[in-house]
Amino acid sequence: MSTIILKRTYISVLCFFSLFFNTQAQKHQERFETIDILNYKFDIQLSDTNNQIEGTAEIKIRFKKAVTTFVLDFVKKKSNGKGMSVYTVSENKNNITSYTHDNNQLIFNIDATKQDEIRIYTIQYKGIPEDGLIISKNKYNERTFFGDNWPDRSKNWLPVVDHPSDKATVEWVITAPSHYQTIGNGMMVEKTNISDNKIITRWRMVNPIPTKVMVIGAARFAVEEQGEIYGIPVSSWVYPQDREKGFSDYTLATPIIDYMINHIGPFPFKKLANVQSKTRFGGMENAGNIFYAERSVTGTGSNEALIAHEVAHQWFGNSASELNWHHIWLSEGFATYFTNLYFENKYGRDQFVDRIKAERLTIIDYTKKNPAPIVNPNIEDYMQLLNPYSYQKGGWILHMLRRELGDQLFWKSIRTYYETYKYSNALSEDLQRIMEHISGKDLSLFFKQWLYQIGHPKLEATWDYKNELLQVEIHQNQKSSIYNFPLDIKITYKDGTMAIETVMISEKIQISKIVSKKQVTSIELDPNTWLLFELISLNKK
Ligand SMILES: [Zn+2]
Repeated sequence: MSTIILKRTYISVLCFFSLFFNTQAQKHQERFETIDILNYKFDIQLSDTNNQIEGTAEIKIRFKKAVTTFVLDFVKKKSNGKGMSVYTVSENKNNITSYTHDNNQLIFNIDATKQDEIRIYTIQYKGIPEDGLIISKNKYNERTFFGDNWPDRSKNWLPVVDHPSDKATVEWVITAPSHYQTIGNGMMVEKTNISDNKIITRWRMVNPIPTKVMVIGAARFAVEEQGEIYGIPVSSWVYPQDREKGFSDYTLATPIIDYMINHIGPFPFKKLANVQSKTRFGGMENAGNIFYAERSVTGTGSNEALIAHEVAHQWFGNSASELNWHHIWLSEGFATYFTNLYFENKYGRDQFVDRIKAERLTIIDYTKKNPAPIVNPNIEDYMQLLNPYSYQKGGWILHMLRRELGDQLFWKSIRTYYETYKYSNALSEDLQRIMEHISGKDLSLFFKQWLYQIGHPKLEATWDYKNELLQVEIHQNQKSSIYNFPLDIKITYKDGTMAIETVMISEKIQISKIVSKKQVTSIELDPNTWLLFELISLNKK
């Protein structure tokens, strides 16, 4: 074990706690220190008669310390008839009665555990999921079942630790009317017609994943095996009515997977299925089977950026996951920027620049209305994390780090970060430490100002050329603290030639003097789009 990993465990646990002072976070922290879910086995029965599911969850838990109680997240049946009713609970196959099910919690009172003891709890339950498992009709009026757990909606249909810090392997045993095909995380290990009208399908995921991406889907599907890429089977699952369009759209995934494998590391899971679904999101990166909104299938290939985003999540978010929700940019910012990187590789620099410029405008616009930092522990409704700070600004953080480190060290850092935290969890500090280790640079100010500070530089610039001297005066007029950053200035001379000079900005008002024998006719700030900033004005004195 390297020192990086040893150090990381200590710091991660420390930060996890110190950054969170609200009750909800404290409860997560307490549980994080108590139990570690190793494996879930969910046996779920689906029916056409009604929307009730019958479930048996077998949960393998390692106790991190001696305790006599622990809690799983699980939504209890409510007065509207939705939610889950537990009818038996057993510990290592022996029935127990010492549990209570209140609101969203299943609380176990148990004989004292020893540190590192492993026990298996089996929970039998049934109910109509209020959320999490979406039982509805698709756009062709056919009945479908789709898991849609992000961020912590798994608990509506599965007893779980509904938090990305506790990842586990999962096995699905799905019994459904035989006209459905069922998909789940991992590899299919069984498909059996158990009667004339029922089929049992088992899927097993051997890599630990967070519950937010632990799902099944059951529908009438057309399924195409696209082939293998680096030994990973890639398939398309679409509504039969969209067979041609969907199969055509999802072929876009293969070169994307190829790019990501070559730039980040091996594909994290044993298969990838691209699935048309009823997810409420545009796309949901569920591990090894991405669920796309049903309307995104067009047959025109217009969803390439969406596919690239969800494929990138397989590495960032599903395999290397944020340790807590407030570092979600480690998922969304990465998926956003890796989409741009893929476009840069495929379509060239101009398209890449168009994309990041548009994203910069989105950030500027959003900051005006909702000023907040990227890492914002005040957010308790995790849906609010789906904002331009997590996505576009997170992506811009990576873009500016790429400039800070240069392409070679940037990619080395990305690969090292992924290799270190694959199938595990990380905080922003972990990424910082890897990048500092690889580059030999102190990035503490960079991470502090861009992740924890509100806003971005708003620049007013004036310039003058006199006596063979170009003088550029930069004012930072944002309300938040002063930023430190390299600023490229493109200088155009009277003879038509151009040059780029870089100045380090670290003051509220800063005057840079550049000697030039040639007459300067104009200047431009950040000509190559490397800085997240807002240009208020640029004038000649
Ligand atoms: Zn995403």
